[in-house]
Amino acid sequence: MPNGKPAGVRCVELDETNRCRLFGRPERPAFCAGLQPSVEMCGTDPSVETTRARAMAYLTWLERATR
Ligand code: SF4
Repeated sequence: MPNGKPAGVRCVELDETNRCRLFGRPERPAFCAGLQPSVEMCGTDPSVETTRARAMAYLTWLERATR
């Protein structure tokens, strides 16, 4: 996104299955590659929906905490 991605706004590079279209490509922002998955963010439940919900809650908390 030319002016950066505002907090809470869906990235234009996400496809319909919520995968990054830029993953593995040099155009992917360094900031994105620096955010590594962790148990704290993603949990350990193998359920995709549970994992996604947990990650969304964690990212929302991060965005508020760093506003
Ligand atoms: S990793 Fe970065 S570029 Fe890719 S979808 Fe997420 S915010 Fe957008």
